[in-house]
Amino acid sequence: LIIKVGGAAGIDYDFLCEDIATLWQENKSLVLVHGGSSFTDELSRKLDHPPRFVTSVSGIQSRFTDRETLEIFEMAYCGKMNKGIVERLQRLEVNAVGLSGLDGRIWEGPRKTTLKIVENGKRKVLRGDHTGRVERVNINLIEMLLENGYLPVLTPPAASFDGEAINVDGDRAAAVLGAALKADTVLFLSNVPGLLKDVEDEKSLIKKLCLKDLESAKNDIARGRMKKKVMGAGEAIEAGVGRCIFGDARIPQPVRSALEGRGTVIERG
Ligand code: ADP
Repeated sequence: LIIKVGGAAGIDYDFLCEDIATLWQENKSLVLVHGGSSFTDELSRKLDHPPRFVTSVSGIQSRFTDRETLEIFEMAYCGKMNKGIVERLQRLEVNAVGLSGLDGRIWEGPRKTTLKIVENGKRKVLRGDHTGRVERVNINLIEMLLENGYLPVLTPPAASFDGEAINVDGDRAAAVLGAALKADTVLFLSNVPGLLKDVEDEKSLIKKLCLKDLESAKNDIARGRMKKKVMGAGEAIEAGVGRCIFGDARIPQPVRSALEGRGTVIERG
């Protein structure tokens, strides 16, 4: 089981860690992947280097990551967010180990130094970006931890093939990890009940989706960063993951609820 929890406002990490601790004590094999976007935005503003979100020519939103942004990103993701989760799990007697994808090259892939974006209707090229995409997973290190009773708590950045830190999308990194570990289920927990037909209406939850529905779900239903979750789910299932579930991370027992099908369940056919 791979659990990806986001970094959006409203997520309850206490509920999440309590639920994970009881599953771990029942000998469930799992890996936790987390984000940290809202704290990164807060920290960036405090450090006087506000976030710059850009829209790529293909319509996907992302964070422009110059060197300073990358370092702030590391402070937030690998620092406060990662250690906060590891501490919660340790207090619940789970021997969690927090690592970034750079450590042991858990996540490795090509760096993209330029970004083609659209701004005010005009195409532009931004240079000096420290982002990339995960193509390879060091499953040996993850399996070594799991086999010895340690729960891996993973977060971006990843390592480029040249060993540089690169900002990668956590949802898609979790999907690639799920595929590499041949996971039964990849859960994507966030501050919404799942994929909504109308983002403003939590009752408009889409309960089930098949692989063939994902392209139109990505283009017509998902907005902003939700598009990357839908893409991640599609990539995971195409690579052999049994199912993906988008669930709510604001509620008690968020993992068990999602595993019971509360949320959007995505399967192959
Ligand atoms: P996280 O950091 O938790 O992974 P993101 O902010 O990346 O979360 O993605 C979750 C957000 O996606 C929600 O807060 C919601 O505002 C937005 N969103 C956009 N379109 C949809 C949709 N169709 N259904 C649900 N959420 C959506």
